[in-house]
Amino acid sequence: MRLSMNTQILIAALAGVALGLGLGVLPPDSQMRVQGLYAAGLAGGLFIAMLKMVLVPLVFSSIVVGVAQLRAQSNLQRVWVTTLVFYLFTMTIAVLLGLTASNVFRPGSDLHMDMFAGALASFEKQQLPFPDFIQQFLTGLFRNPFAALAQGDIMALVVFALILGAALVRGGERYPLIGKLLEETLNLSLMIVGVIMKLAPWGIAALLAKLVATQDVTLLQTMARFVAVVLGTTLLHGVVVLPGLLWLIARVNPLALWRGGRESLMTALATSSSAATMPVTMRVVQDNFRVSPATVGFVVPVGTTMNMDGTALYEAAAALFVANLAGIELSAGQQIVVCVMSMLAAVGAPGIPSAGMVTMVMVLQSVGLPVEAIAILLPIDRLLDAVRTVVNVEGDIVGSIVVEHLTRERG
Ligand code: ASP
Repeated sequence: MRLSMNTQILIAALAGVALGLGLGVLPPDSQMRVQGLYAAGLAGGLFIAMLKMVLVPLVFSSIVVGVAQLRAQSNLQRVWVTTLVFYLFTMTIAVLLGLTASNVFRPGSDLHMDMFAGALASFEKQQLPFPDFIQQFLTGLFRNPFAALAQGDIMALVVFALILGAALVRGGERYPLIGKLLEETLNLSLMIVGVIMKLAPWGIAALLAKLVATQDVTLLQTMARFVAVVLGTTLLHGVVVLPGLLWLIARVNPLALWRGGRESLMTALATSSSAATMPVTMRVVQDNFRVSPATVGFVVPVGTTMNMDGTALYEAAAALFVANLAGIELSAGQQIVVCVMSMLAAVGAPGIPSAGMVTMVMVLQSVGLPVEAIAILLPIDRLLDAVRTVVNVEGDIVGSIVVEHLTRERG
């Protein structure tokens, strides 16, 4: 009997976690553990490398082709606006969830900052004041497209592809070759993703085994309340809010979301990277949810780089956690600043592992919290990063289906 890819991935994920638990209990210097971790690192690394290989041609071609097709259907503007409004809306809910849960459960108020003195002392400051962040973010959007292509700078690539797509539309019939070339690049890239996904069960098992085996469990226990608040609210957002919105707006059953999106969600869990997961997300949304290539080509890449519900929620919850640790009461006004900055930090974070941690600095700075606290958050970030990445990707899947639904018939 041949198992479906969905089932294979699920079994692989469970096997990976079990293997990770097994490796985790072995003594740190045992041969078996060292070799097991090496093999898992190698197999998982190869899987991510292959996804990243196809990412750049895929993002580039899908956006240009997507914009050109949208324009042909004359609903470009509606798609644009609906996408941004929906993403903003879901990120706002996520941030508010994080903030409310932190205010209710007050994680961190039971711990003492001096417990972490060692971690703090060894932390190297990554100063990124707000005006600098904005400047870096905005100028980073416009880059030489060849450099962006070569270095896999997804944000700059998205911007250039949008501009080129728009230029092609204006150029009309005069440039049929480039349009055709990119259309074929897109189809070929999607075909390659299909081949890479045959290896997904192996890659996912290996990545999860390594993640579970190397996460510092003692630290997770020390900060159990914070970890529970973050995981609980992130899951609430992923299991209730996003599927609820999808059902309300597009009448898609939550089970169908899980069944159809599983390949992508599992890849997100294993890779902790929305960008590496993007090729899978595009395929899944197109094949399992019948979203048109034009909508997918636009909504998924924009979502991957900008729409991060899990990250936004985490940034807000973590800022309040740090405040509690430091014994600082944030006023209502300061909490609003935290909300806004958390969303900006999520938009600015690239879809790579622990990216949210770097942009976290500006959230802390905005209300004068000790930036050094990152040192406390980083060691427990593997597990939390994996889970928030799943919700980040889920937000993109839901976004594409909703945007397609709201803009289709009337387009
Ligand atoms: N790892 C997350 C992602 O790729 C970003 C983050 O660190 O929050 O979506």
